[in-house]
Amino acid sequence: MHRSTGRLCRYHNVVAAASSAPSAPDRPGSAPTPEALSRLDELLGPGQVLIPGRDDIIRYDTDVLGRRSPACWVARPNDLEDVRSIVRWAYAERAELVVQGANTGPVLAGVPRAGRHQGIVSMELCRSTIDVDVLNRTVTASAGVDLASLNDALARSGLTLPIDLGANPSVGGMVAANTGGARLIRHGDVRRHVLGLEVVLPDAHATVLPLLRRLRKDNRGPDLKHLFIGSSGTLGIITAAVLAVDPLPRDVATALVAANDGSGVLHFLTLLEARAVEHLSAYELLSRPTLEAISRHLPSGIRWPFEFPGVPDLPPFLILVELSASDSAHGGRQSLEDDLTTLIDQSASRGWVADAWFGRPTTLWPLRHAAINALHQEGPMVAFDLSVPRSQLFETRDQIIALVADRAPHARYADFGHVGDGGLHSVFIWPRELRVERRLREQERLREAMYELIAAADGTFSAEHGLGPENESAFRRYSPEIRHAQAALKALFDPRRILGSVDLS
Ligand SMILES: Cc1cc2nc3c(=O)[nH]c(=O)nc-3n(C[C@H](O)[C@H](O)[C@H](O)COP(=O)(O)OP(=O)(O)OC[C@H]3O[C@@H](n4cnc5c(N)ncnc54)[C@H](O)[C@@H]3O)c2cc1C
Repeated sequence: MHRSTGRLCRYHNVVAAASSAPSAPDRPGSAPTPEALSRLDELLGPGQVLIPGRDDIIRYDTDVLGRRSPACWVARPNDLEDVRSIVRWAYAERAELVVQGANTGPVLAGVPRAGRHQGIVSMELCRSTIDVDVLNRTVTASAGVDLASLNDALARSGLTLPIDLGANPSVGGMVAANTGGARLIRHGDVRRHVLGLEVVLPDAHATVLPLLRRLRKDNRGPDLKHLFIGSSGTLGIITAAVLAVDPLPRDVATALVAANDGSGVLHFLTLLEARAVEHLSAYELLSRPTLEAISRHLPSGIRWPFEFPGVPDLPPFLILVELSASDSAHGGRQSLEDDLTTLIDQSASRGWVADAWFGRPTTLWPLRHAAINALHQEGPMVAFDLSVPRSQLFETRDQIIALVADRAPHARYADFGHVGDGGLHSVFIWPRELRVERRLREQERLREAMYELIAAADGTFSAEHGLGPENESAFRRYSPEIRHAQAALKALFDPRRILGSVDLS
């Protein structure tokens, strides 16, 4: 056996399985031995276990923002029984593991925890089932099925899972993160759609919780499936889900609407809700600095739809508004656009909005979805995924902007988000040429001040992306009672604490 030195979890090769019985390392968290990895290899079969040094695992242990978190091993189960084999192996070996779906989560929850000897269970091959029940308006899907494939299959029956975001996550990842997305204002988060789950618990037997029901009501006691929704892969491995789905919208009207201030943004929204709440399906904000970044890093194939002569002419805010209806009874696409035009006119006459651009959804949505990648290309950044009561959103935003000068004078601020549901992605970007130590100092000061500010605003710093290791200490500080209850659940389901990169102990 050759074992490289100075790096965690790097084996040049894997030796044949040892003849003696597996001996568990004496404390949780140590790296599995090559013999143990060899046993895992044998359990799953050829090509399903990847070992660093032998196989290329970079796409698994690098997160969507390009941050590398070395994994000791990557296992790719095909089905429920493979998942159970991995769990029993991990329990016996006390090997820590992180479940990964499509690896689009931005809070480091789907990659190994820094400094720990963790492996990755990638669910990408668990894609055997997409079973549409048209009469029940549900779909049963394996955890590794991606959202685009799911919606392609549903579209053939005139149905859709109305979760919309600029990424293509897996079913299991969406459930574990309780994904929100741009249509939460109308359709709610993933939790609202989950009717059933199949979950493997990280215990000695890899117990399967048979919660995979297609029922809209079942009150035999507390609804256990909800414990796993939004649990960030810390309590169990989701292998399949039953999701309630909706009819595909037939009429859609979209516009980008310019507003000069936060008060205008909120008043326009309340008018839309008063007159067209049954049709309002998205209300997304792009602030001027975000628009500037998008204009500088426009993805290929996307057209800049405005005729602004230059960046200074961009409005302080653009709102992407979408009205949609599931039938044409309303009079067709033109009629929804007419409604939107009327409401924009009324808002303009009250000074809430300044201008509007109508366009096809396929033209306008890519601009909104380009936001995070465009900002990422501007320089080293720190992003907060916050939510506050909607009425306090712009007051909080003003306080955040005031913080920058005080805590992070070299940073620029940009934001965007699902303001219709009180969500805001607050992004701070530093110049590349700034010395790293200086930037890290500013980031640390800013992070602490942000947590304080968000807590004071009765908000959350983990709105829709989950907690993630970076937010753990703030969670411990600001929500000790909730954390304590979560730790009790963790001890119940995961007695050896082998699962997840978020520490709930
Ligand atoms: C450009 C972009 C835009 C985005 N926009 C939004 C948005 O608008 N709204 C939003 O909510 N999110 C958004 N996200 C974040 C991300 O796409 C979601 O959190 C998504 O649901 C993650 O799914 P995934 O399959 O990629 O999971 P991963 O990133 O692989 O994992 C996420 C978490 O789920 C756990 N997990 C994954 N699969 C399982 C499983 N089978 N069982 C148990 N735990 C599991 C992981 O351990 C981890 O804790 C965006 C991301 C990007 C890159």
